[in-house]
Amino acid sequence: MNSYDLVVRSRRVVLPDGPRPAAVCVRDGRIVALEEYDAVGGHDLGEVALLPGLVDTHVHVNEPGRTEWEGFASATRAALAGGVTTIVDMPLNSLPPTVSVDALAVKRAAATGQIHVDVGFWGGAVPGNTGDLPRLHAAGVFGFKAFLIDSGVPEFPPLDPAGLAAALDAVDALFVVHAEDPTEVTDPPSSRRYAHFLSSRPPTAERRAVGTVLDVARRTGARVHILHLSAADALPLLAQARAAGARVSAETCPHYLTLAADDVPDGATEFKCCPPIRGSGNRERLWAALAAGLVDCVVSDHSPCTPALKCGDTGDFAAAWGGIASVQLGLPVVWTAARRRGHPLADVVRWMATSPAALVGLRRKGRIAVGCDADLVAFDPDAPVTVDPAALHHRHPTTPYAGQVLTGVVRATWLRGMPVTPGGPPRGRLLDRSDE
Ligand SMILES: [Zn+2]
Repeated sequence: MNSYDLVVRSRRVVLPDGPRPAAVCVRDGRIVALEEYDAVGGHDLGEVALLPGLVDTHVHVNEPGRTEWEGFASATRAALAGGVTTIVDMPLNSLPPTVSVDALAVKRAAATGQIHVDVGFWGGAVPGNTGDLPRLHAAGVFGFKAFLIDSGVPEFPPLDPAGLAAALDAVDALFVVHAEDPTEVTDPPSSRRYAHFLSSRPPTAERRAVGTVLDVARRTGARVHILHLSAADALPLLAQARAAGARVSAETCPHYLTLAADDVPDGATEFKCCPPIRGSGNRERLWAALAAGLVDCVVSDHSPCTPALKCGDTGDFAAAWGGIASVQLGLPVVWTAARRRGHPLADVVRWMATSPAALVGLRRKGRIAVGCDADLVAFDPDAPVTVDPAALHHRHPTTPYAGQVLTGVVRATWLRGMPVTPGGPPRGRLLDRSDE
């Protein structure tokens, strides 16, 4: 291995065309060769799989401004511990929200020096900033997030359909949309019963909003992506739009794929997110859409808050913040359920690394291939693990997965060829669209 900085060998290297024994050879932070497993020496993982580092394009870091909810150090440490080597930070819940070039500069300054994985940024499209979008795009954001419904924070208001159309017309960029229609959503009563919250945000709210997004996309020709799809009822609209040639993609999240409304205990506000976790039949339809390639990505929507805002003491679903923090747990959660359904590890890698990287145009991320960054994760796919909130690195260890027995443990991680651990120095880098 004299001409390489690092060689990692495994009998299960998950390559774009499937797993096989191989040696991944690294120089200057990039993968420069793939050799036969036995051809070179180096770090030997044996039967432990080698995956590309996951790419999570849906993470709310909240710093600066709401750092007591979550921050760059804790969020990226959690990501690293979970096999995620790249995150793209959402533009809201931090103060200021990332809706201008100046705000992006504030974000980048806040992140500098404390990130444990590579970090890129989404911009935000809100009423009044349409004129800023081209400059913000040029400054390096990967695209723009917009809401069609109240976002939960006052400084990031939603767009109406006309406002969304104007934003899509203003800049040739990827738009990622929180698709719930406010006219189909009601205020839930104060209640410890999950069903009361669930019925306030019915599947029709998602289906109708997805229809709006697809309509606007069709008229403008813009590229759109449906965030955190929960309602399977919206899938036929997506399928039709795709068949008609629309540039549309969609993601779902580990919690929609693995949890179910009927199993949410009274007062268990750690299960609250928007759109909500629905019934088990809905969940099975999401798996089918994922298997069929209609849903492209599985990303965390890591969205923590303080324990007080999560209302764990009262268990009031109406008052609790909606958000589930799972950037550290997504890989074992999804892999455990995927394997049970007969999906190979390569499918999980496609949903959680390759497709999210492709979504944001990060060509050197999300794959083990010559020329890509050597973001590598040694993952023992057969090792059992029980979720222990005390082992979570995000700021507040609230989780709906507490006590679950999962399969799959991250054994080691390399970021651009450097061995990295959550307890080590922060070696992450800021990413922008020039890294495409
Ligand atoms: Zn989100």
